[in-house]
Amino acid sequence: KFHHSSLTLFIPSSSSSSSSRTKPRWPRMDSAASRHRRKDKVVVIMGATGSGKSRLSVELATLFPFSEIINSDKMQVYRGLDITTNKIPFHQRNGVPHHLLGDVDHSHGEFSPSDFRRHAGEIISDITSRRKLPIIVGGSNSFIHALLVERFDPELNVFDKSSSSSSSSLSSISSDLRYKCCFLWMDISFPVLSEYLLKRVDEMFDSGMVDELAQFFEPDSENRTGLRKAIGVPEFDRFFNKYPPADKLEEGENPMREGAYEEAVRAIKDNTCQLAKRQIGKILRLKRAGWDLRRIDATEAFRAVLTSESRGGAGVFSDLWKNQVLEPSVKIVKRFLME
Ligand code: ATP
Repeated sequence: KFHHSSLTLFIPSSSSSSSSRTKPRWPRMDSAASRHRRKDKVVVIMGATGSGKSRLSVELATLFPFSEIINSDKMQVYRGLDITTNKIPFHQRNGVPHHLLGDVDHSHGEFSPSDFRRHAGEIISDITSRRKLPIIVGGSNSFIHALLVERFDPELNVFDKSSSSSSSSLSSISSDLRYKCCFLWMDISFPVLSEYLLKRVDEMFDSGMVDELAQFFEPDSENRTGLRKAIGVPEFDRFFNKYPPADKLEEGENPMREGAYEEAVRAIKDNTCQLAKRQIGKILRLKRAGWDLRRIDATEAFRAVLTSESRGGAGVFSDLWKNQVLEPSVKIVKRFLME
């Protein structure tokens, strides 16, 4: 339905691509209007952990083949723990360039929202100077906020829990943005999302998450910065401190150990659902502060994933995803690029 050749007509205009050969045909704009006009266009895919943002980003970048993806998940920026932090595997990236995904060495310290603003800002300038479209994807709303606002104050934590109920926190979220943004918000009803997250954590364990965490384990480490904050690390550090990874045991040999293991898995599931809830809260606050988030409801598609394969879950998922997620998103992005 969507032809690449026709979509390339939507190559976004950028400040650096305006031609100097042609004389302006329009009356001079006032400075505010001209500033607005020169803003680079970016697509931003927001949503809680597990809501299908990475999948959507690659599908959009494939349909709008002049796109490049910038990761905005604060754990996925670091090199390592690919399963634990849920980085999109290389073979699913479909040849789309991904930036700030596993590029940062965590031993150099914490990658802050200011670092993200600076690095992602440079990457956006580079992408738009090549007349391509940046797609920002990831669940860390503090990173997205830091990157996009016109004026960023690193001292001010706009999502600070202590100020969450006060009106001052609302007014500290600015809707004055330094890019022209098309926000897609992947939303899934919370009961469906949390059930899906439990399933996803089990799948992460099946993919080798324990071995990954065992290799990352530092005995008696107090270090809780950067990648060591990723959900899975503190929970399994507690377990490995009691039952070191080197002690290989046969299943059923030590019920205490198995109990502790189950406890770590349960804590990861709880913390993942809590994270999703907090992320949704932050998205709602950005929306209330005037960010023009376009809600894409993926609930039915995710409900289909939870239905057993034998009842046609996978096929129903693809159809629902295409109709309720991909096509509405493509329409919104197309319109945005034509504006
Ligand atoms: P906060 O200010 O609470 O850090 P944020 O919007 O900057 O919020 P979030 O993406 O909500 O960032 O991440 C908050 C915490 O959730 C991280 O510090 C980490 O513990 C955990 N987390 C986030 N993303 C991941 C991930 N991909 N893998 C594992 N843990 C994650």
